[in-house]
Amino acid sequence: MIYLDNAATSFPKPGRVYSEVLRCMQEYCGNPGRGSHAMALAAAEQIYSCREELAAFLGLSAPERILFTLNTTHALNFAIKGLLKDGDHVLISELEHNAVRRPLHRMMAEKSVTVDVFPVLGLTCEQIIAGIAERFKPATKVVICTHASNVCSAVLPIASIGSLCHEKGIFFIVDGAQSAGVYPIHMKKMHMDALAIPAHKSLYGVQGCGVLALGERISLDPLLEGGSGVDSLSTEMPADPPERFEAGTLPTPAIVGLLEGVRSLRNGMMEQIAARERSLFLAARERLSSLGMQIYAPEYEGAVLLFNAPNVLSTELGRYLSSCGICVRSGLHCAPMAHRALGTPEGGAVRISFGRYNTLADIDALWRVLKNM
Ligand code: PMP
Repeated sequence: MIYLDNAATSFPKPGRVYSEVLRCMQEYCGNPGRGSHAMALAAAEQIYSCREELAAFLGLSAPERILFTLNTTHALNFAIKGLLKDGDHVLISELEHNAVRRPLHRMMAEKSVTVDVFPVLGLTCEQIIAGIAERFKPATKVVICTHASNVCSAVLPIASIGSLCHEKGIFFIVDGAQSAGVYPIHMKKMHMDALAIPAHKSLYGVQGCGVLALGERISLDPLLEGGSGVDSLSTEMPADPPERFEAGTLPTPAIVGLLEGVRSLRNGMMEQIAARERSLFLAARERLSSLGMQIYAPEYEGAVLLFNAPNVLSTELGRYLSSCGICVRSGLHCAPMAHRALGTPEGGAVRISFGRYNTLADIDALWRVLKNM
């Protein structure tokens, strides 16, 4: 089996992730924060280590502002619904995933929130910034955008967008689903007020865990209420993060998996992986072009390549590749505005996405299968 669907979820994981998840489940998986016995304390300690590791990794000074969620979508829902009030105006990019688009759609219906979209593809950083600035209104509360697209390898100029937002006193929320673990992130230097990331993609953790990291100046209403292990007499959620936002039992095994995944990226490993993914992209672009495949936004070079074969439905091609032992994603990739901007057909396109364990041999195998189609 050749796995080329790392943008959906990475596979396989580093050995240290598997071993720690198993060790957690076998040795110390008490309920964190819900007791003072050794197992509960050991779980809580590991969770705190993960907050510290992530805070350092993301350029955030306060580990307690690392909030654990189920996934990126959950984190984005938290940020969007916890921040927006009646009549707020929001700016998003044309590349946004449904994890941003759908919660906003609900806010439009329920809170009279208004949303405008700024273009990104084919534009320089200056043009993108100008496009955002010209859409600001007095009611603009926040700019929300993805750091790296999930349909092509476009990366947004996050630090410049953040700087513009802060100059204007506007909040900045970033969807880091495709960038965390691939590109360096420093929330403070990049002026991010909130960052939503998954454990299960390029941080090489397991499914069931995501993170909402909060900068210093943003405050949100909690989305969920419930047990937190502290202030039990109160009918309200605790005042301070992380407990204010983490109702119910946390997924300890997934959190320790994330901790090991992030540790596995230390000492320049993240940069090495990103360079390898780019080299695989270049090889795939060259081989697929030689077969006459249509490649979308080929000028953006990174971990994601979107293409179609002439006169073949992308879903059919995806099924064919699967029958040959190659895992890709086909169709629409939860980002309909991006598909429109890229000009893919209604049936979408095939996405191949690389991870740390892919090799040139995987690209050659894909090329052979497509050549013999
Ligand atoms: N945003 C982007 C850009 C994504 O690629 C994805 C995953 N496809 C998400 C959000 C949602 O991530 P999750 O599955 O972790 O909720």
